[in-house]
Amino acid sequence: MGKNLKVLFVSAEVAPYAKTGGLADVAGSLPEVLSGMGIDIRVVFPGYRGIDAEQEYVADFPVTIGNRLETCILKRIKDAPVTTYTVNNYCYYYRDGIYMHHDDGERFSFLCRASLDLCRAIGFKPDIIHMNDWHSGPVALLLKEQYKQRDSFFSNIKTVLTIHNLEYQGHFEKDILFLLGLPEELFTPEGVEFYGKFNFLKAGILYADKINTVSPTYSEEILTPEYGEGLEGVLFNRRKDLCGILNGISHSQFNPETDVYLKYGYNEENLSGKRRNKSLLQAELGLPVENVPVVGVVHRLVLQKGLDLVIKAFDKMMELRIQFILLGTGDPNLEKCFVSLMHKYPRQVAVRIEFNEELAHKIYSGSDIFLMPSRFEPCGLGQMISLRYGTIPLVRETGGLKDTVIDIGRDLTRGNGFTFSEYTPYAFLGALQRAVEVYRNKPGLWLAMVKRGLKTDFSWENSAKQYLNIYNSALRE
Ligand code: ADP
Repeated sequence: MGKNLKVLFVSAEVAPYAKTGGLADVAGSLPEVLSGMGIDIRVVFPGYRGIDAEQEYVADFPVTIGNRLETCILKRIKDAPVTTYTVNNYCYYYRDGIYMHHDDGERFSFLCRASLDLCRAIGFKPDIIHMNDWHSGPVALLLKEQYKQRDSFFSNIKTVLTIHNLEYQGHFEKDILFLLGLPEELFTPEGVEFYGKFNFLKAGILYADKINTVSPTYSEEILTPEYGEGLEGVLFNRRKDLCGILNGISHSQFNPETDVYLKYGYNEENLSGKRRNKSLLQAELGLPVENVPVVGVVHRLVLQKGLDLVIKAFDKMMELRIQFILLGTGDPNLEKCFVSLMHKYPRQVAVRIEFNEELAHKIYSGSDIFLMPSRFEPCGLGQMISLRYGTIPLVRETGGLKDTVIDIGRDLTRGNGFTFSEYTPYAFLGALQRAVEVYRNKPGLWLAMVKRGLKTDFSWENSAKQYLNIYNSALRE
């Protein structure tokens, strides 16, 4: 289907090598499906310290940053399912943590330039460069304002930008323009300036040939001031080239029958493994092993995820005689708050402040209810992963959550979770009360929902076809 099409897929994170959130999951699974459709797709991300995979040298070449030449050593991950490169530079990437360094603007400027330069260096001429989030936004700008003008090698390349989260835009000082070798004239409100700063994502939105978000609902929400993060006007001007494509998840990575992190595998015909995993989870986290609804959370602890609603409703939640398990890292205030709630309710609450893939899988499997009361949610993978493990999502009706979870009260035959709309602790608590009520008093209905979730197809096939369509429409124009 995608025969002869060549794509370079640029991302700051790629699972399982470097991950803080959903972007990594997408970059680690979508390209493989596109490759299966016949596309020659190659993934590139920074060679951070601590990548747990064998890599081999491919090439090295100079990358211009400001008035310096930096060296890029290009490596390839040996056993990756699709060709996956890392761009390596000791000063920029050989340190702990992916983000939050004082020179992130420069580090990701290097990623942008190195991604373009590697094409020349290894003679790979992509039809499409697929950028993801702010980190690679300036690729489209560089391509149009610089590379295409200087070198015919780049003439026919088109760009697609996927916005995984509009909240993170990459605002840096104006001198990024100098680092990228671009003229000052671009620094205007109509151009890449955003309230006195250089805005990486805005550069991508302005210059990409096609743009998409990771769910249909979010692609509409971001055109409004409530969800547009100040870029609603810029996005509105590009609406002709903007669409929403729902993320998928990797059915092999998230598979309750074969998951290596789980002691007991299970499927919709035999759920005993899920019950046993629940007991193991309770025991591992020091909670009483008893038949109460276990409510799980696995998130970056940031305002977006709506956990302030959970905190405000917490005492009332505990009166529902549930257990609450949270895994996450992020905002220190949220971390402290959940740890103190664990101390307040030691027999009902377990909190782990860490990034832990294994424990995440155990929570997806061992919980009964999975919470995502997000303020906004571009797509959300947690609700899809939890459904795949037969765990019922409780979500706020926004973005991709609205596109994937149907309240059982609204549709008895298709309902797969519990939803609420208003962003208030009362609305959240109301949905949780309904969920606990069904769990305790309507076991037949609960079981039907669990099975429906386990059977749902969230694989990438459909969405990958839509990506192929936007690649083709970018090429046609
Ligand atoms: P976002 O991209 O906003 O972080 P998503 O729901 O799209 O949210 O994806 C989050 C991904 O990151 C999921 O795969 C989730 O399991 C994982 N994740 C988040 N926090 C942790 C953590 N502390 N430990 C392990 N996995 C985590």
